[in-house]
Amino acid sequence: MVNHVTRDIELRQRAWDAAAQVVDPEIPVLTIADLGVLRDVSVRDGEIEVAITPTYSGCPAMNMIAVEIEIALERAGFRKPTVRTVLSPAWTTDWMSDDGRRKLKDYGIAPPQAGSGRRALFGVEQVTCPQCGSTDTETLSEFGSTSCKALWRCRSCREPFDYFKCH
Ligand SMILES: [Zn+2]
Repeated sequence: MVNHVTRDIELRQRAWDAAAQVVDPEIPVLTIADLGVLRDVSVRDGEIEVAITPTYSGCPAMNMIAVEIEIALERAGFRKPTVRTVLSPAWTTDWMSDDGRRKLKDYGIAPPQAGSGRRALFGVEQVTCPQCGSTDTETLSEFGSTSCKALWRCRSCREPFDYFKCH
């Protein structure tokens, strides 16, 4: 029994590591682990089930992510892994790791601000320019290159930049 449990823990870790390598097709510097999209990996009778939560409902990238996870797990030696989508609780940018936020910024996309959803509601959202660090920024368009990004511009360095706005 103990051996069985130990084996499952090892399997789960190996499956988690394989799934955690999968990147967001829209922002390839971020893995689904960085994003907090990868919620859980469970083992039952040697079968792997991965739970993911989309960054927003109906996100077209999620189908691709699910397929990528299956491919990554099969490559790691797991047969017929299943990917389950969990919609509740809903994904929030708070689930994005610090590492993920840093990678986003290095990629030139302003990372989501903590609690940005609530502040945006009151119209006082403040976004930091990923190029120069100025907070003197303005929205150009609520719709950037993908549905998860808005197009902003920095008034200090005059550069436009993407802001990751899903929350
Ligand atoms: Zn700037």
